[in-house]
Amino acid sequence: MLIVMQHGATQDEVKRVVDTIQELGYQARPMPGKQRTAVGLVGNDGRVDESRIAALPGVREIIHVSQPYKQVSREWKSEATVVRLPGGIAIGGEGVVAMAGPCSVESERQIIEAAQAVRAGGAAILRGGAFKPRSSPYSFQGLGLQGLKLLARAREETGLLLVTEAIDPEGVDHVAEHADIIQIGARNMQNFSLLKRAGKAGKPVLLKRGLAATITELLLSAEYLLAEGNHDVILCERGIRGFDSSTRNVFDVTAIPVVHSLSHLPIIADPSHGTGRRDKVIPMARAAVAAGADGIIVEVHPTPDRALSDGAQSLYPEQFTDLMRQVRVIAEAIDRHVVEPLSAPVGA
Ligand code: PEP
Ligand code: MN
Repeated sequence: MLIVMQHGATQDEVKRVVDTIQELGYQARPMPGKQRTAVGLVGNDGRVDESRIAALPGVREIIHVSQPYKQVSREWKSEATVVRLPGGIAIGGEGVVAMAGPCSVESERQIIEAAQAVRAGGAAILRGGAFKPRSSPYSFQGLGLQGLKLLARAREETGLLLVTEAIDPEGVDHVAEHADIIQIGARNMQNFSLLKRAGKAGKPVLLKRGLAATITELLLSAEYLLAEGNHDVILCERGIRGFDSSTRNVFDVTAIPVVHSLSHLPIIADPSHGTGRRDKVIPMARAAVAAGADGIIVEVHPTPDRALSDGAQSLYPEQFTDLMRQVRVIAEAIDRHVVEPLSAPVGA
């Protein structure tokens, strides 16, 4: 439930609404906006005596949020959320942000080379997994804490910000220590204890769509993060299971405008996992930006043929540079621009 205040309602009037919500036993989330101040009521169990709130001075109207998710919905907050990262890099505004790097951190040399290459191509954020959720227990599982340290070194060396995955609640704190964005992978989209921990980590979260998740389920998972007080959430379309084996997944480009209409949260696209084939990554990245994605996350490896994971979908550095050249043109055609990398590292 959303209580919309009259234009020009006073601080005292807003406070009275907040106090009343709390007296009724619910949580209040005041949201000052450009057009209006609204106060969200969290935890509505259907027994709220709304007449008490409606009668308060300064209240214009009460809106019932019709979606199963509340705080992530456009009904709750009409203005787009802009996730602000160190150094002034923002996701969800006019800029289109490129995140790129290898699937996994494999060695110091590999991650530094990859970071330098993607920075030269125009990425602002380095990706690379230190903790890898692999389908097979016999596949490379990542370098763990050592991988995080190598990522931090690459960040220091290049000025790129860092996104990397946490696969369990304990790992969230380690990742939060080094990364600018905590990634929750597709396989963990509905790992609710992980989501709750990430919601408290104090760092933005990149939440990837589950392998067979509906958009409603993706938004409900994001709701877990907001419910814990973390509003810096970036969603990611990364392809879903289909019946056709021509590609690894079906890259659902439609999810981008659908999410933008249902939610105020930014959404980026992962055409690498979305297609699983190097030659399909570039066209789908272009399509995603044209469809309004707030960014792309792309796997790039200095030597894809020797990659320990996802080599077949990893771009060669030159391909990434070409892609970014095209993405800049597409972004401009829709009145956006590609966000440049920082010139110097900033504190994590
Ligand atoms: C990844 O980003 O390397 C990854 C494992 O992605 P996803 O969770 O989308 O499969
Ligand atoms: Mn991967």
